[in-house]
Formats: sequence, C-alpha cells, structure tokens
Amino acid sequence: MDKKRIAIVGAGFGGLSAAYDLVKAGHQVTIFENAATPGGLAAGYKEPGWDWTVEKFYHHWFTSDKHMFDLIHELDLDAKVMVRSPKTVMYTKGKFYPFDSIVSALLYPGLGFGINKIRFGLVGVYLRLTKNWKPMEQTTVAQWMSKWAGDKVYREMWEPMVVGKFGENYAEKVNMAWMWARLHTRSTKLVTYEGGFQAFADDFAAILQNMGVEIRYNTAVEKISSEKDQSVKVSLKAGEETFDRILVTLSPGQMAAMTPQLPQDYLQGLLVLKSIGAVVLMISLKHQLSREGYYWYNLPKSAGFPFLALVEHTNFLPKEKYGGEHLIYCGDYLETDHEYFKLTKEELLERFLPSFTQVNPDFKPEWVNRTWLTRSNYAQPVPLLNHSKNIPTIQTPLPGIFFASMSQVYPWDRGTNFAVEIARKAASQIISTL
Ligand SMILES: Cc1cc2nc3c(=O)[nH]c(=O)nc-3n(C[C@H](O)[C@H](O)[C@H](O)COP(=O)(O)OP(=O)(O)OC[C@H]3O[C@@H](n4cnc5c(N)ncnc54)[C@H](O)[C@@H]3O)c2cc1C
Repeated sequence: MDKKRIAIVGAGFGGLSAAYDLVKAGHQVTIFENAATPGGLAAGYKEPGWDWTVEKFYHHWFTSDKHMFDLIHELDLDAKVMVRSPKTVMYTKGKFYPFDSIVSALLYPGLGFGINKIRFGLVGVYLRLTKNWKPMEQTTVAQWMSKWAGDKVYREMWEPMVVGKFGENYAEKVNMAWMWARLHTRSTKLVTYEGGFQAFADDFAAILQNMGVEIRYNTAVEKISSEKDQSVKVSLKAGEETFDRILVTLSPGQMAAMTPQLPQDYLQGLLVLKSIGAVVLMISLKHQLSREGYYWYNLPKSAGFPFLALVEHTNFLPKEKYGGEHLIYCGDYLETDHEYFKLTKEELLERFLPSFTQVNPDFKPEWVNRTWLTRSNYAQPVPLLNHSKNIPTIQTPLPGIFFASMSQVYPWDRGTNFAVEIARKAASQIISTL
C-alpha cells in the first residue's frame, strides 16, 4: 500500500488515537490543533509549584473503560494508571449520604423503606445485566423510570440527575437508552493517570511525534473541501494544503460550518443534533472542604444549589501534588444562553460560595486562595427519542472526508473511552478506503 497523506483536525483523545492507528498503518499523518497543547476537553493545567496537572473539567475513567485501557496498554503506559475508590454522595432533606454502591444506595434514606427500595434495586440490577438498550430509546427516562421504578424513585433519584445534566428544557425528553448506558457500564472505582489527563495527552503526543506524526499546534483549520481528483483541501490562515483523506473530530456545528460542500441531508443531520455546554469554576482553598473526605457531591437544583456537582479533586488525589492547595470544582451543564456563560469568575464565585457552608458549616470565604474558570459550548450531546436514527455516519458523503465526534458515540454517554473507540473505528474506515 502507498503511503498516503492524512490530516486530522483536533488533538483531543480522539484525534490522537486515530493518528496512532493511521501512522502504524504506514501513512503520513498531520494533526492540526487550534490550542497550544493536546488533550482537547480533557486537557489540564499545571501552576508553578505543582507536580501534577489538574483537568480544566473534572475527569476520571471508570474501570470498565476498556478502549482507553487497551490503548494505554498498547502505548506501554500501564504503569502510570492509578485506581482509586473515592466517595460520591447525594443530598436529601438537608444532608449528604454516600451513594456509590448498591448497598449504600439501598441505605440511602431519600427512598424511605420498603417497596421503593426494592423497585430501585431490581431496576438497577436489570439495567446492569440487560444488553437490550434499543427499545429503551423509544421512551424517555422519566416515562421508563416512573413505570418500572415508580414515580417516587424517579423524582427522588433520577430526576435531579437528568435536570442537572440537561436542564429543565430537555430533562423530560432524554431517552432511557442514555440512562441505561451510564448504569450499565460505570464502575464505583475511579481511575486516573499519574500526573493527570494532560500528562497522558503529553505522553501520547510525544509517542506519536516519535512515530513520525506531525502535530501543528496553534493552527486552526478554517475550511475543508473535497476536490475533483478525490483529494481533500484544507484551508488554514497561512494558506491551503492538500491531503488524501481528512478526519474531523470537532462538534457537529463546527463540522457543518467548516464543510459548506456537504450535501443537504448530511448537513441537516448535523444541525439537528442537540448539545449543551459546561461551566466549571475551580477554586483553590487553604483547607479541606469536605470533613468526611468525600470526592463527589451531587447537588439537586430543586434544593436551591447554584450548580450541579461539587467535586473535591484533592479528596481523589493527594493535595501535596498541587503544592498543598485543596482543589474544588463547581460544575454545571447549561444551555449556552445561560447567564453563567457571561458572568466573570468573581461573580460566579459570589454565587457559588454560600453553598459551601452546606458541605462544611465551618467554611469561611477567607479560605479561598484563587480560582480558574473554564467554559465549553459543546460539552454534552442530548439524546432525544429514537436517537440512533440521527447519528451521522463517520464516512461523509464527500469523498475523502470523515467525521468522528462525541455526538456519534451513542448509545454510550460521551467520554474519552468512547472518543478513543470512535476515532479508532474512523481510522479503520479510512484505511479500508485507501
Ligand atoms: C465537564 C466535562 C466533564 C467530563 N468528564 C469526563 C470524565 O470524567 N471522563 C471522561 O472520560 N470524559 C469526560 N468528559 C468527556 C471527554 O472530555 C470527551 O468525551 C473527550 O475529551 C472528547 O474527545 P474528542 O477528541 O472527541 O474531542 P475534543 O476533546 O473536543 O477535541 C477536539 C480538539 O479540536 C480542537 N479544535 C477545535 N476547533 C479546531 C479547529 N478549527 N482547528 C483545529 N483544531 C480545532 C480543540 O482545541 C480540541 O483540542 C467530560 C467532558 C466535559 C465537558
């Protein structure tokens, strides 16, 4: 097979994974990356005095993330994988309770005792065991859970999650296959990489560069087009370049804007896909916030909390790796016209801090050292009814142009594990056309 020139747009975990298979197959691969570093949505930062990076958005792997761990094994980086069992808690009637195993869920007082607990347990076991997700996409989480687990269980356990994740607009419209995918695969043990996800992205990028992949940072792709001779033209600020194939790993909206030649059907298919954004304020504190050492707090909006998840990163990983600072994420998933997309980090801090006393009554605003704010317009695809019919194909109708994004990993929920899976699938499709 001749060596072909292949372009990849995006050096997130997807773009890097596709590059790995394509260079291994003997092709010449160039990755164009808008940012100055690899990692995309899973990227992190390291302040002076820190040994490890911290992710801009909270990230961990589940022990079930097979595609990720297979890749890490192929890259011979297994020694850097770290497994932990941090505690997750849920809020009910003014208090937080552990909620990270079937046993703790059954002890959770929010469900009362008796039939609701039994239904909750049976539904949990069923969703864990069944692989038959397809019929579930014909019904919403609200309908399915109310029917099988009961209205009380839905309102207490699952409604806060869907409202938090998708907002009031979409909460009652999200299909049950999305919930199945989360409950079916996720583990209570959580996994990370020594030095943070950014360290993994850096190690991975260095391995690719050693294999001959060219990664052009600070280089945004503006347009792509398919030419008559089946080649693909890539337009950059600095001019145009020609490749034999291209893989785009951006959002459906960016793909549509970048590729005006796409036929109407495919273009419309991209434009109808819904997603929401994320706003995450990271706060460094002088003291530990959770006295109990809890890692993840699910905060129901119905109880007046101003954000969805409070995540004390340094109850997952040692604070000594971050110069002794206690790092807290305050995260929320929101539509991009929400005011949190406009407020400054000082304004968000003012909104968020009062809720910290519900986690620790001794908390004082003087504990705050500093803050970092990260927002993304494209953070969580929204799977509506019968969503499998709406998934764009990886190979687009335009010769030479391929697309692999978070919006196509359905029924799985977006995650780096599935970014690896879909990108490797895309690489194999590209190879089969050469
Ligand atoms: C709040 C939040 C929490 C998450 N938590 C987890 C978690 O705990 N575990 C987990 O596994 N996953 C998690 N995820 C999901 C995970 O981050 C994504 O699924 C994964 O990183 C997607 O990878 P990707 O390569 O498909 O896309 P991206 O990471 O989005 O990569 C796309 C890349 O393209 C670049 N780019 C954009 N435009 C251009 C352009 N015009 N030209 C060139 N380059 C461009 C971007 O800079 C980016 O680097 C989370 C995501 C969010 C938002």
